[in-house]
Amino acid sequence: MIAHNLGYPRIGSHRELKRASEQFWAQKITRQQLEETGRRIRQDNWLTQQQAGITLVPCNDFSFYDQVLDMSLTVGAIPERFRPLAGPDDDRLTLYFAMARGYQQNGLDLKAMEMTKWFDTNYHYIVPEFTANQAFELVSDKIFTEFDEARQTLGVTPKPVLIGPVSYLLLGKEKEADFDRLDLLDRLLPVYEQVLTRLQAQGADWVQLDEPCLSLDLTDQQREAFATTYNRIRRQFPQLNLLLASYFECYGANLNLAVQLPVHALHLDLVRCPSQLDDILQTDFVSTKTCLSLGVVDGRNIWINDLERSRTTIQRAVVALGQERVLIAPSCSLLHVPCDLNSEMRNEGLTPEIKQWLAFARQKLDEVATLVRLVNEPENEQVGNVLAKNQDALNARRSSALINRPAVRARLNALTEQDAQRGAAFAERQALQHERLQLPLFPTTTIGSFPQTDAVRTNRSTYKKGERTLDQYEKFIRVETEQAIRWQEEIGLDVLVHGEFERNDMVEYFGELLDGFAFSDNGWVQSYGSRCVKPPIIYGDVHRPAPMTVRWSAYAQSLTDKPVKGMLTGPVTILQWSFVRDDQPRRDTCLQIALAIHDEVVDLEKAGIQLIQIDEPALREGLPLRRENWDAYLNWAVMAFRVAASGAQDHTQIHTHMCYAEFNDIIHSIADLDADVITIETSRSQMELLDAFARFAYPNEIGPGVYDIHSPRVPTVDEMVELLQQATTVLPARNLWVNPDCGLKTRRWPETSLALKNMVQAAQTVRELV
Ligand code: GLN
Ligand code: ZN
Repeated sequence: MIAHNLGYPRIGSHRELKRASEQFWAQKITRQQLEETGRRIRQDNWLTQQQAGITLVPCNDFSFYDQVLDMSLTVGAIPERFRPLAGPDDDRLTLYFAMARGYQQNGLDLKAMEMTKWFDTNYHYIVPEFTANQAFELVSDKIFTEFDEARQTLGVTPKPVLIGPVSYLLLGKEKEADFDRLDLLDRLLPVYEQVLTRLQAQGADWVQLDEPCLSLDLTDQQREAFATTYNRIRRQFPQLNLLLASYFECYGANLNLAVQLPVHALHLDLVRCPSQLDDILQTDFVSTKTCLSLGVVDGRNIWINDLERSRTTIQRAVVALGQERVLIAPSCSLLHVPCDLNSEMRNEGLTPEIKQWLAFARQKLDEVATLVRLVNEPENEQVGNVLAKNQDALNARRSSALINRPAVRARLNALTEQDAQRGAAFAERQALQHERLQLPLFPTTTIGSFPQTDAVRTNRSTYKKGERTLDQYEKFIRVETEQAIRWQEEIGLDVLVHGEFERNDMVEYFGELLDGFAFSDNGWVQSYGSRCVKPPIIYGDVHRPAPMTVRWSAYAQSLTDKPVKGMLTGPVTILQWSFVRDDQPRRDTCLQIALAIHDEVVDLEKAGIQLIQIDEPALREGLPLRRENWDAYLNWAVMAFRVAASGAQDHTQIHTHMCYAEFNDIIHSIADLDADVITIETSRSQMELLDAFARFAYPNEIGPGVYDIHSPRVPTVDEMVELLQQATTVLPARNLWVNPDCGLKTRRWPETSLALKNMVQAAQTVRELV
């Protein structure tokens, strides 16, 4: 049995790559220094894996920005606009970062390539761009260099990792009409064949081809492409051990296809899809020679493995296939978990009790190696001890008072449909709210946060470091909030916000105030390029020991006669952006959070807050990869939002906010949220988005963002007037709000001030026009 790994985090255990890349971009270090950092991280990773007992260590899983972009550069899929940087003598790294981040230098102004989410993770990849006459050629040596480098470091042959050709095409986008990117396969495959030929000549025996698109719903034509591709590769490389890896879902309807592909080994994500092993063992796959790579260690979450359960699973496979046909691995690349639990030095965020339940990437390697030994050396005392300790930790976790809160469970179990209902229907609520709030037509508001200036950040960081007292810290926030309120009054906004100066992050802020959440010091995960996130860890039943936002909202409201909107993060978003427990369904955790938010809504209302916004920017992100699972998810996600919102009485106006303008396919569920007002990000295409709402005859109030906050550009009054007028042609004027399309925390005050003044003026103009 072979222990192998699909990929290892490449940001470095202390985010060395982030620092080095950002310094390189700021021209503070040289290209050689950046490359040296990359080399050191790769070598550390390889040796770490080898020392942990991984026999087949991956290479080419390192990337200076993104593995899909690496692939684009490898096969020469360089969009035309980057040609000026792509000559044979040009510097590849400059070209590479230009494709990732855009390039404004030497008279050139090149837009970056698009970025999008990697399946259902929070990692984002750079979307390949294809044209009808797309040509491919091998233009990068990265994979070959890293192969040699790894072999030299390890003293044994590493396993190069590549994105498989079919997924590579499917993950990209046609940039012209009238052709299908899969038609490019015939042109692409020769380059893959060149790569494999060279790798083979260098001595590679295993090659991992990632084809995660096998986790998606595929058309017949797409399935056909997989069959053709792998038959062709097999014919040309009968000696190479191809390991085909898909993850994040069951193969599902693609299972028959997958087991018939002529590869040497097929990887299964047995964490996401534990039933798949038995499905396969029941087919005549058993009588073939193909190996199975069992992804039993969770590559997406941070909990320790149940070694006993995994051992049973592995043994089932070994009995059916024999040891030589079994490989053990994490369920997917470890890119999605933090590097090393041993970097958690302080015991405050993660107490020793919680720590013993956790495994980061480094610890997961040990788990994979231990599992191999458990099966190979069942009598070994040392391994037996590891197993015993593992079972103790799991038992401790199951019965820990930190996790189990009977009152929260009881409340969750008692939830009924009724708890997800506001009192009256929307039309009646709307009348009550209009009566009470007395807002003009086209009321103006913002999404919540105002610029997080250096002073705001310093206030927080010095307080956290103990250099500022709680008093000083809070006094600063009071001053900032008051200034924001005065300024909003002055420019004439109708519904004010307190500005979120007390929040660093919309999820972390709530997590820190809720029981059941823990925080690491160094648990960073790559989100895209040099950007990393540190998700909270939800380990126990979620409980709100005290109000979380009431003090700041009530303070802001006390300063003004205008209504101030309360500001909460919704349960689905808190869930999506955290590491969640694996010992209960996501639905249950989400509803527990919803109950906590519900109580906060009740308290905000009691404190005199008349409008409450519950942000759910991540609602869409939670959608399962396969359509057939959408409804189940949407049911509980919508229910969670409604449970949170149902804390409000009919005369209190519930707002929600969502980013990203792709609502067509889930507009029913958006309407089911039954928020009184929804504000949405429309920067990409306002009309297209409004069409979706209009076609559906969306009944509640809407604030389509009238300007894009992602750019410092100040929108003119006229352009916002025009957008609003367009909106009135598809939606009733009395339902329309005027707001930017997201929070302003990443902006600076000069442009924010000008933009919002123009926005208020645009609303006034439109009021006179209708
Ligand atoms: N209220 C949050 C803010 O204004 C919303 C952020 C978001 O939508 N991502 O920052
Ligand atoms: Zn937003």
